[in-house]
Amino acid sequence: MAAGIARDPIPARARMVRQLAAEGITDPRVLRAMSAVERHRFVETGLAPQAYEDTALPIGLGQTISKPSVVARMLELLVQGGVQGADGRLGRVLDIGTGSGYQAVVLSHLAAEVYSIERLRDLHEKARVNLRPLRIPNIHLILGDGMVGFAKGEPYAGIVAAAGGDALPSAWIDQLAEGGRIVAPIVASGAAQLLMVVDKTRAGIVQTVLEPVKFVPLKSGIA
Ligand code: SAH
Repeated sequence: MAAGIARDPIPARARMVRQLAAEGITDPRVLRAMSAVERHRFVETGLAPQAYEDTALPIGLGQTISKPSVVARMLELLVQGGVQGADGRLGRVLDIGTGSGYQAVVLSHLAAEVYSIERLRDLHEKARVNLRPLRIPNIHLILGDGMVGFAKGEPYAGIVAAAGGDALPSAWIDQLAEGGRIVAPIVASGAAQLLMVVDKTRAGIVQTVLEPVKFVPLKSGIA
């Protein structure tokens, strides 16, 4: 496992969270979740000193762990839109692109159940290893093609994707609960991506296009 630095660098993480708040993340649930998760456990040992900087880092196989500010932004959009229980948590959520497992762990603080799907076997296995010592009961790791969603967990209160394709897979909309929200990057033109929010309302699908983002491509099939 990526053991990270020997001791938990609590001050570095607190600084990261203060910076997130200063840059406009206001939801206390999201800020609490970001302070609870030890990001340095999810990057290679040599990169652990950079774990609390606002930067994407390589996690192997050409993939990256997203910047903390992007994770916080997307999860804030998700919790503010999706169907919430009385405890202020989302119900079941689908996390597309497990990668290191970091975002799934942040989500486990914000949702009742997290289904996290990864198409690359090696990363799926690595996420398992990263998660094992944390013993988190409400995360389900799945090896599979997230473009078809994960029907066993539907309907989802929220779906969040860490990889961007040309269009939103229709399975995501099908598997979303009424009142639920999708937060995902979408390729706008050429290689440029935009962050998109999709709400499934009683009256229909409402799409909101937000700021430019940069994610790895959404690919089909398992490898
Ligand atoms: N959320 C991750 C970030 C991973 S990067 C983290 O916190 O570390 C995005 C991941 O999406 C990559 O691992 C990539 O393999 C995966 N991915 C791309 N297309 C996919 C698909 N169709 N289904 C599942 N995972 C996919």
